Amino acid sequence: MPELPEVETARRLIADRALHRRIVAVDDADTFVCRPHAPGELRDALLGRTLTVAQRRGKTMWVETSGVDGSGESGPDLGIHLGMGGRIVVTGPDGAAQEGGGPRRRDAQPRKPEWNRFTLQFADGGQLVLFDKRRLGRIRLDPEVAALGPDAEEVTAAQFRALISRGSIAVKARLLDQSKIAGVGNLLADEALWQARIAPGLPVNRLERKDIDRLYRALQAALKSAGAKGGVHTGDVIVARHPGGSCPRCGAEMVHGTVGGRSTWWCSREQAGWPDAA
Ligand SMILES: [Zn+2]
Repeated sequence: MPELPEVETARRLIADRALHRRIVAVDDADTFVCRPHAPGELRDALLGRTLTVAQRRGKTMWVETSGVDGSGESGPDLGIHLGMGGRIVVTGPDGAAQEGGGPRRRDAQPRKPEWNRFTLQFADGGQLVLFDKRRLGRIRLDPEVAALGPDAEEVTAAQFRALISRGSIAVKARLLDQSKIAGVGNLLADEALWQARIAPGLPVNRLERKDIDRLYRALQAALKSAGAKGGVHTGDVIVARHPGGSCPRCGAEMVHGTVGGRSTWWCSREQAGWPDAA
């Protein structure tokens, strides 16, 4: 499932390849992915415009649009959420395709046309497609971003301390709270907590300042590594998230529980102390 680093690959693809190309047709017929918009509403809002700036905060991505046929007044923001496995496919005028977003499935079946949930057709013959087999992505105009906390990649150490530490919630649940810090999903949270040797169920008011600072550095390093390697599935502890798995660092048994409502794995030795909080 796409977390911040995967969404960033999709954003960068749009920024590099899809901007300033005039939109001449829009397939917005998937009323589930395009809810609450009625069929034709997105088309009417976007025809004749170009995409101008690709933005992202956490896992939320949106693209600013130009005025119709280059007129002065800019258009609505086009919100694109990749859901659990969505990918952005941008094709050039020559039909050459590039992709960004969630990891590509190795055992991919032949792609069905109906998995293209939303399409912008450009005047030059190319297109931008939301490819989403599971149909959990979302396209909507002017998405709400005010409720999101600062982006996990941009949050400062001081902001992080203030956002993480209040209350007695489990630290993993706090990391997953998009209104506090935007962009940390289930795998990234497990990776950062493992790197920092912090029990996922530990109440945040039990964290000392040095623990929070270590977690901040671990999160930043995990984001950087995932961005460079192509996604959060490349994290060091991810291969050990299964029954019988052992810690890649110390060899102790990995244990499993539910923390913050999500399936969670941690090292029984280095992240011990709060198994009951799970
Ligand atoms: Zn360990």
